[in-house]
Amino acid sequence: MATPPGSVLVSGADLPTCKACGYTPRPGKSKHVRSAFARHRCADRVAARQRSEAWRRHLAETAVSKPCQHIRKQPDGAWVERHAHGTAARYTLDGCHCVPCRAASLAYSRRRDALVQVGRWNGLQDAAPVRKHVLALRDAGLPTLQLSRETGVSLSCLEGVIAGRHGRPPSQRLLGSSARAILAVRIDHRAIMMRVGDRTPVPACGTQRRLRALVALGWSMKRLGDRIGMEADPVRDVVNGTNPKVLAGTARAVVALYDELWNTRPNPVTRPERVAVTKTVKLAASRGWVVGAYWDDDVIDDPKGKPARANDRDWSKDGGGRIKREEGAA
Ligand SMILES: [Zn+2]
Ligand SMILES: [Zn+2]
Ligand SMILES: [Zn+2]
Repeated sequence: MATPPGSVLVSGADLPTCKACGYTPRPGKSKHVRSAFARHRCADRVAARQRSEAWRRHLAETAVSKPCQHIRKQPDGAWVERHAHGTAARYTLDGCHCVPCRAASLAYSRRRDALVQVGRWNGLQDAAPVRKHVLALRDAGLPTLQLSRETGVSLSCLEGVIAGRHGRPPSQRLLGSSARAILAVRIDHRAIMMRVGDRTPVPACGTQRRLRALVALGWSMKRLGDRIGMEADPVRDVVNGTNPKVLAGTARAVVALYDELWNTRPNPVTRPERVAVTKTVKLAASRGWVVGAYWDDDVIDDPKGKPARANDRDWSKDGGGRIKREEGAA
């Protein structure tokens, strides 16, 4: 079968070359190669080659390597650069225009443009809601360092969002992935209190309510302190709200004690013991402290939580009712 002359593929040594300017068309069908060769203008070709050579020279001259200005100390005392050559960060933050950094920066912006096109760019977003969330988590007792470990978001990013670093104002924006990771950590006072280190201060609110509920049953602060290995005075400080924070270890000891005793009244045998229990119950009543039956486990640690049934009619029928009547009589 005869092939029409225009459809023959021309490539390699078969391609024509212009003797004046050295132009060679791209490989392709013979009719396209022929027309491209006929259309080429030698002057344009020469100018284009000069431009590209000038550009290459410019790149070579400006391929100035810059050191990273963000060195940090390793545990062994050695200083290391934070931004290696061949990264977009070194190009942008340190102004290094060496060939690998330039290539990395170009690859980064191409990838960004492609992701923006399909709406999947993990770009910078407003830091304000994240800052609010981080501060709320911190108020709930979660240290920033632990938040960093739990989310994989660097401590420096978190510090920048909270307060700004190196004398700069707080960050206005942060990576979408970091923002999502931080916002996914729930402000759950109980869960936070249960998972932070023993020596981490957490809000005393839940501990105070548990201890008050036990006092309302007649357990004296002295006896409660004995059970959790604390003096009566620090226990009293928590119960009376002098200390807005307690150590998480203490809070957890009180949770364990409360889970054991929340529905158990002390069993006084001797007369002084009975007097002590009555005195303790009266103290709680005079302050309006409610017994554990009024607290749901999922609100007792929440500073905004309210005792259940506090406004119900049930109030007058059990321990809480007696407390309220006595409070009214006092
Ligand atoms: Zn030519
Ligand atoms: Zn750097
Ligand atoms: Zn570089």
